[in-house]
Amino acid sequence: MARIAYVNGSYRDLRDAAVNIEDRGYQFSDGVYEVCEIRNGSLVDLPRHMARLKRSLGEIRIAMPMGEAALAAVMHEVVRRNRVRYGLIYLQITRGVAHRDHAFPSPAVKPSLTVTAKSLSFAKNQAMAAHGIAVVTLPENRWPRVDIKSVSLLPNVLAKQQAKEQGAYEAWFVDRDGFVTEGSSSNAWIVTKSGAVVTRSAESGILPGITRAVLMDVLAALQIRLEERPFTPQEAHEAAEAFVTASTQIVMPVVKIDGQPVGTGTPGPIALKLRDHFHGFSTFS
Ligand code: PMP
Repeated sequence: MARIAYVNGSYRDLRDAAVNIEDRGYQFSDGVYEVCEIRNGSLVDLPRHMARLKRSLGEIRIAMPMGEAALAAVMHEVVRRNRVRYGLIYLQITRGVAHRDHAFPSPAVKPSLTVTAKSLSFAKNQAMAAHGIAVVTLPENRWPRVDIKSVSLLPNVLAKQQAKEQGAYEAWFVDRDGFVTEGSSSNAWIVTKSGAVVTRSAESGILPGITRAVLMDVLAALQIRLEERPFTPQEAHEAAEAFVTASTQIVMPVVKIDGQPVGTGTPGPIALKLRDHFHGFSTFS
């Protein structure tokens, strides 16, 4: 089946879907994006993703290309046309097309909007969670504004590739003070031996993950203690459990960090429990 993309006002076969080479997203990474999970053909936690998208756009002074309801309608249409039941939707907004000049085009041009969707294997994702993943740590080398979901992801790309070459699935960045910030495409968590769930505060060094925010609701409901504070790779090595969160992975257990097993070296009970309960606290639209 042909995959369909939305590109600046029309739905196109993915093979013909293209943007101008002077798009500022292409030339400067001057844009932002969102990724939502699709479950049973519905968008998971769309209102929270919309709110983060608007915040990211505001931080870099790009206007919403259309109203929120119209944008949601485009997203639903892309899901429908691609007949995705389980998978992800990717949305990107850039500052638009203009002759190359670092400063913003003046007068402003129309932002570019593209939306794609793809099916993923639910069974594969479940199998991955049943096995757990390995992570490696490496020095943080990103800009300080990682709270903006910018398409400028070169350090994340290089980190993920390094993880892959070392036989791991994710890389955790470690800041100058020796604390884990987050993964190349996920937030990082540990569970202490006393059963507290620990993740870095969203004040600095991380993207405020939507999965992270929903998981906090799950923790409160299950009366599991949450500590929002930084942790070191050493503390993670000695933790009972570790896991990462991201929209397409939900709660993914981490069983190895830098080649050393975490806890029993198998997915931890708290991580698996949180994974099981997660969608009871999500919204579907
Ligand atoms: N941090 C980074 C750097 C990410 O790329 C992602 C995934 N987009 C996350 C955290 C997790 O965010 P979310 O739960 O909203 O997918």
